[in-house]
Amino acid sequence: MASKAHEVRLRSRPVGLPKAENFEVAEVALPGPAQGEVLVRNLWMSVDPYMRGRMYDRPSYVPPFQIGEALQGGAIGRVEKSNNPEFKAGDLVESMLGWRDAFVSVGGALQKLPNENVPPQAYLGVLGMPGLTAYSGLARIGEPKAGETVFVSGAAGAVGAAVCQIAKLRGCTVVASAGTDAKLAWLKSVGVDAGVNYKTCGNLLEAVRKAAPKGIDIYFDNVGGEHLEVALELARPQARFVECGMISTYNETEPKPGPRNIIYVVGKSIKMQGFIVTNYWDMRDQFRAEMTQWIKSGAIKWEETIENGIENAPKAFLNLFAGANTGKMLVKLG
Ligand code: NAP
Repeated sequence: MASKAHEVRLRSRPVGLPKAENFEVAEVALPGPAQGEVLVRNLWMSVDPYMRGRMYDRPSYVPPFQIGEALQGGAIGRVEKSNNPEFKAGDLVESMLGWRDAFVSVGGALQKLPNENVPPQAYLGVLGMPGLTAYSGLARIGEPKAGETVFVSGAAGAVGAAVCQIAKLRGCTVVASAGTDAKLAWLKSVGVDAGVNYKTCGNLLEAVRKAAPKGIDIYFDNVGGEHLEVALELARPQARFVECGMISTYNETEPKPGPRNIIYVVGKSIKMQGFIVTNYWDMRDQFRAEMTQWIKSGAIKWEETIENGIENAPKAFLNLFAGANTGKMLVKLG
């Protein structure tokens, strides 16, 4: 007899800042696994800012979510029943079949977690997509050299906190921007040299100038908007701008004019490059090996912000835009 599962669906497309009523939790039948299939109960779901982009009905690097259909996102689950010889009950698996508490799938959509002694949800954060985003973007676009100054916006989030610590391991001076003093205190405790609370500093340009008196060699951009203008203003010649995300713009109903001082790209010979983490999937094995070692040696630390229960997944997503998370935003199930 089929049992039940729950999934979070897009009820309507958000206009501006998403609201709780844009989402709904629905109960669906969960059939038993057919030959070749696996039944998985999710334990952890990833909550990510990029999902906001999929809520617009427009062409992008991933197709838009459809109204009335379940959202998707990274998840860690446990195999409950398997009719696929590659998996057995009890295996921990990673998939893109989050935003539901259980599902039946062919094995191809699942990846077994490596048998390392780290909490499984780390594979959604520091050892997963956000960690690889930090590692690959900084390496391939930022090309950090010891002694350089790296400015990181959204620095206390999943990607930003990893960038800050990897840049320290590469011998750089790191200046972080985040939205609370508590976040900045945590970043200092893991080695960040100077921090700016962009919400309370008054004049962001002057605050970052004071924190980075020699100027900026690398800007790792998670925020866009005013932060990007400040970084352009303070960039040193040959600076590299790692354009990872622009969360300050994701809910704008009309696009704002671009950075008013973009002309500095020319005079300062700035390299500004955007990327999607999948561009650098070739670094995944190297990243996992090095990050696992850093975690085991205590060189990299991370924070998590956890909401419990699938019914609170929309709240966790909305909270990303309020800065409620330090480190990786997760939903814990079961
Ligand atoms: P996150 O930083 O863990 O969470 C979002 C954080 O953004 C919030 O905690 C908040 O912190 C900050 N924020 C929210 N609204 C803001 C605003 N208007 N101005 C400034 N800061 C704001 O999220 P994440 O998963 O690590 O992602 C960080 C960035 O990387 C996002 O832009 C995301 O889209 C991007 N990303 C890109 C890729 C890629 O492949 N290119 C992959 C993953 C993520 P505060 O308290 O500091 O405001």
